[in-house]
Amino acid sequence: MKRQSPNYGKIPPPVLSHEDRLKAGLKAVAARKKRALIKEQLASGKISYLQAIHSDSLDVNRMKVIDLLKAIPKVGEVRAKLIMERAGISLSRRIGGLGKNQLEKLEKEMLVNQVQTPLGKLIVISGPGGVGKSTISKELGKQPNIWVSISATTREPRAGEIDGVDYLFLTDEKFDSMVANGEFLEWAEFAGNRYGTPNEPVSRRRKNGQNVILEIEIAGARQIRKNEPGALLVFIAPPSMEELAGRLIERGTDDPARQAARLALAEVEMAASDEFDEVVINYQVEDTVASLVSLLS
Ligand code: 5GP
Repeated sequence: MKRQSPNYGKIPPPVLSHEDRLKAGLKAVAARKKRALIKEQLASGKISYLQAIHSDSLDVNRMKVIDLLKAIPKVGEVRAKLIMERAGISLSRRIGGLGKNQLEKLEKEMLVNQVQTPLGKLIVISGPGGVGKSTISKELGKQPNIWVSISATTREPRAGEIDGVDYLFLTDEKFDSMVANGEFLEWAEFAGNRYGTPNEPVSRRRKNGQNVILEIEIAGARQIRKNEPGALLVFIAPPSMEELAGRLIERGTDDPARQAARLALAEVEMAASDEFDEVVINYQVEDTVASLVSLLS
C-alpha cells in the first residue's frame, strides 16, 4: 500500500514575502524590547507584579509567568518555580492564559512568600478652575505607574467629552443612589453640578500598587484630607489671577455670566491653598508635571 506523507491533506504554511518577513521580524524585536522594559520596571519596583499580571497589554500577556516572577526582586528562579508549582500553574503558562482561579492562587502564594505589593499612593490635585489641572492630570496619566481617577458627574458633557473617558456622566437619580450606597470616596457640589470619585476603582488600583491621582475641587480635597490621612494634597496655583481670568475666557466653554461666577469662585478657592501639603505654580505644564513626578518619588 502506498504510504502517505505525514503532511498529506494539511494546509501548507503561508509563504511570506521578504517584506512580510521583515515586518514580522521588526514586530518581534519591538515586542521583545517591551517585555525587557517591563522586566526592568518590575526589577526597579516602578511597577508591581499585580499591575503586570492585570495589564491588558498584548505584549505583557504573551510573557511567560515564570519570566515575570523571576524579574521580581528577591524572587529568583528557584522561588519562582516553587510559587508556580504551589499555585498549580505550569511553567510554560503565559500571563494572558491565566484563569481567575490561577490568578487567585498565585496572589495567595505570593503573599505566603512575602512578595507584597505596597499600597499605591493617593495624590489629590486641586486648585481654582481654569488653572490647568485636567491638562496636568492627563500628562501625569502617561507615566508608567500613575492612574488618573475618572470622576462621576451630573453635569452635561461638553463638546468632545466622552462618557467613561473624561467623566462618567450620570443622571441625578444614579448619582443619588451611589451616594446612598456609599460608593463615593468623596463628592461635592460645584457650580450647580455634583462631582464624585467612585471608590472601587481607586482602591483596586492602589491595592495593585498603582499611584492614583484625583483631580478634584477644594471641598472634595478636604474630605480626602479627613478620610485618607496618608494622601498627598497638592494645590496648583496660577502664576497670577490675571492669567487665570485670561485662561477662563480663552477656554470658551462657558458664557460670560458663568465665567464671572467661576472667577469669583476661583478667588475663594485660592484662599484654601495653605490647607494643602504642597503648592505648585503652573507656569509651564511640563515643569509642573516634572515637579509632581518628583514629589511622587
Ligand atoms: P469641570 O466641570 O470644569 O470639568 O470641573 C469642575 C470642577 O470639578 C473642577 O474643579 C474639577 O477639578 C472638579 N471635579 C472633577 N471631578 C471631581 C470629583 O470627582 N470630585 C470633586 N469633589 N470635584 C471634582
